[in-house]
Amino acid sequence: AKAAGRNALCFFDPAMQAAATERAALHADLHRALRDSQFELHYQVQVDETRRPIGAEALLRWRHPARGLIFPGSFIGLAEETGLIVPIGTWVLRTACLQLAAWAARPETAHLRLAVNVSARQFRQAGFTDQLRELIVLTGAPASRLELELTESTLIEDAEAVVERMEELRALGIRFSLDDFGTGYSSLAYLKRLPLSQLKVDQSFVRDVMSDANDATIVETILGLGGSLGLSVIAEGVESEDQFAFLAARGCREHQGYLFGRPMGLRDFEALLAVHHA
Ligand code: C2E
Ligand code: CA
Ligand code: CA
Ligand code: CA
Repeated sequence: AKAAGRNALCFFDPAMQAAATERAALHADLHRALRDSQFELHYQVQVDETRRPIGAEALLRWRHPARGLIFPGSFIGLAEETGLIVPIGTWVLRTACLQLAAWAARPETAHLRLAVNVSARQFRQAGFTDQLRELIVLTGAPASRLELELTESTLIEDAEAVVERMEELRALGIRFSLDDFGTGYSSLAYLKRLPLSQLKVDQSFVRDVMSDANDATIVETILGLGGSLGLSVIAEGVESEDQFAFLAARGCREHQGYLFGRPMGLRDFEALLAVHHA
């Protein structure tokens, strides 16, 4: 009866069957990707209010041998469901720490910080703090220029354990940025308890900041909140001069978006930096 049920499902819903097959193939491919080093980090510049580069966000890319470059939106969800995000996240952190150490060794790039996205499952894994401590020692990366981007949904569940883990990591010198800020449900009381350095205004508010009065108010509120909590605020998704001017006029001092540079491979990113030193 069970087999008949499966067949019935297969017969009546070919689209669902196709999706399951596609998923299984993607899962197998993700394993291979790790084994065969098909992942890359791309770097998107972060600038200060004078447009000077202050750092980068590392963004994961998958160089698939047949399908070309695949963006995280197509595979991070599956990686999280299957737990593959843990070894993938380890690869991301190791690569980021190696890069940070390389930048630290050259005077022109020594000031740069690097922001890395960490998924909830990765952040909660046993031994995460030890792993980072070892990576920092092993690579010689300056911990104070490593920034972990967490989302409100990562922080909200089991708050006690999360705060404790953040404190451990902060003791190593690591900093935290709260990604996609404004889209979650953090209460002010809760925010105050977290050892954060930065709020990252979600790009959905920046997108319409010039045309939507509500979004403009939200951005202003987040800037005010950051100020009163002693946190820096970075805006992401800045695409136009108008948006940049609006944000800067309201005291936003850190910016990221296509206006300053798209995410790009390491060589292109270092070429972009070189323009600023010329
Ligand atoms: P996110 O952390 O919110 O990253 C910002 C996304 O906005 C990136 O998409 C970036 O390419 C895009 N973006 C940057 N500037 C602009 C702009 O001016 N306009 C617009 N429209 N978009 C802009 P991407 O690279 O496709 O990454 C998507 C998401 O995947 C990230 O969202 C993050 O949640 C996740 N992700 C990326 N890399 C990693 C990783 O190493 N680990 C984990 N766990 N998640 C990652
Ligand atoms: Ca991010
Ligand atoms: Ca974001
Ligand atoms: Ca809107």
